Amino acid sequence: EAAADLRRVAVFGATGSIGASTLDVIARHPLRYQATVLAAGRQVQALLALCRQHRPAHAVIADETLYAELRDGLREAGLATQAHAGHAALDQLAASDACDTVVAAIVGAAGLSSTLAAAAAGKRILLANKESLVLAGELLTRTAERAGAEIIPIDSEHSAIFQCLRSRDASLDGAGVRRILLTASGGPFRGRSRAELQQVTPAQAVAHPKWSMGPKISVDSATLMNKGLEVIEAHHLFGIPGERIEVLVHPQSLVHSLVEFVDGSTLAQMGLPDMRTTLAVGLGWPQRIESGVSGLDLLAQGRLDFEAPDTDAFPCLALAWQAMRAGGTAPAVLNAANEEAVSAFLQGRIGFLTIPTLVANALSTLPTEPADTLEVLLSADQRARQLTLNAIAAT
Ligand code: NAD
Ligand code: MG
Repeated sequence: EAAADLRRVAVFGATGSIGASTLDVIARHPLRYQATVLAAGRQVQALLALCRQHRPAHAVIADETLYAELRDGLREAGLATQAHAGHAALDQLAASDACDTVVAAIVGAAGLSSTLAAAAAGKRILLANKESLVLAGELLTRTAERAGAEIIPIDSEHSAIFQCLRSRDASLDGAGVRRILLTASGGPFRGRSRAELQQVTPAQAVAHPKWSMGPKISVDSATLMNKGLEVIEAHHLFGIPGERIEVLVHPQSLVHSLVEFVDGSTLAQMGLPDMRTTLAVGLGWPQRIESGVSGLDLLAQGRLDFEAPDTDAFPCLALAWQAMRAGGTAPAVLNAANEEAVSAFLQGRIGFLTIPTLVANALSTLPTEPADTLEVLLSADQRARQLTLNAIAAT
């Protein structure tokens, strides 16, 4: 590994779960990758700890009121790291010479702006922030294409599909693809009826059986909204119509997704449920690099099960299909209403089953408009948030 090949990586969402997995893989290859920009939302002390460990050139805290704490902390640690704050700084660093690769791992629509900035600047984007594709999929993929930015999915299912296709450029028809089978673990409440979901708590919802993830995506996995967002994500990443995407519940989470070809052949990608594999694929592609994850012991695992999703107990999946079919601003509305509903659920303000009710309410109340500009999408996002917050306040 020669220093001339050194890749400079900006990690947006460095203090989160994906951020930690990214920095773990980077630290295994010090001559090949360097974390040059680390960014977080509000966790300034956690960000400072990461700066002491990884010594980036730049550190950004999105919450501007925390700027002085970051700057002083860096100074006290004797680091040369430059302190920045605010969303404009995120956008500017995403597009700057400080990095050639951007790991987009901010949670929620808050990640869209910096992801778009990285796309417009032609960076390699390791895209974990699926909400940006749901909110502005066409705009983001078009921007990336025009600027020659490479988007590599950091979602285990989409990485699986990417690996089965062996190239992000393979157009699906050209590659002879008949359909995509997205696997889902089923989350912590798999097998429960609607009635049994009435009283579940945030602590139960975030205790995912197979993956260790941030609180928002953990709740999304429990409602199956995560799989709905992933169907929309796959549609944009691989240019495949929704009718050719199918969801399969696979509780062992070892088969990360499958691609079926026109000749009847089906390829699956397998591995332990550990995002470091996915991140190593993105960082190294088209080469393979060490991730710290061991291989599968299939004899110890014993079996692989598959079942259909229960759309009665988990209506969020159907809501996402509905929004994708409606197109235009509907996916932006779905995403925004879901973000506000999940946040209220995590704060104990609404019950688990109110999440799909609020999302359905936003989709049926707000008219779907053609989504040709960022302004239209962001305004739909804002209206859906306001509507949902009002509905929460009224409960
Ligand atoms: P997390 O909650 O653990 O981390 C979120 C990160 O985003 C933190 O660093 C936080 O400081 C930062 N952040 C939050 N709000 C911000 C804002 N307004 N501005 C700037 N930074 C902000 O979440 P996570 O589990 O790491 O997930 C991150 C993204 O990756 C999500 O979009 C999620 O859907 C996706 N993803 C995660 C996993 C996983 O295994 N964790 C798998 C697939 C996809
Ligand atoms: Mg996933």
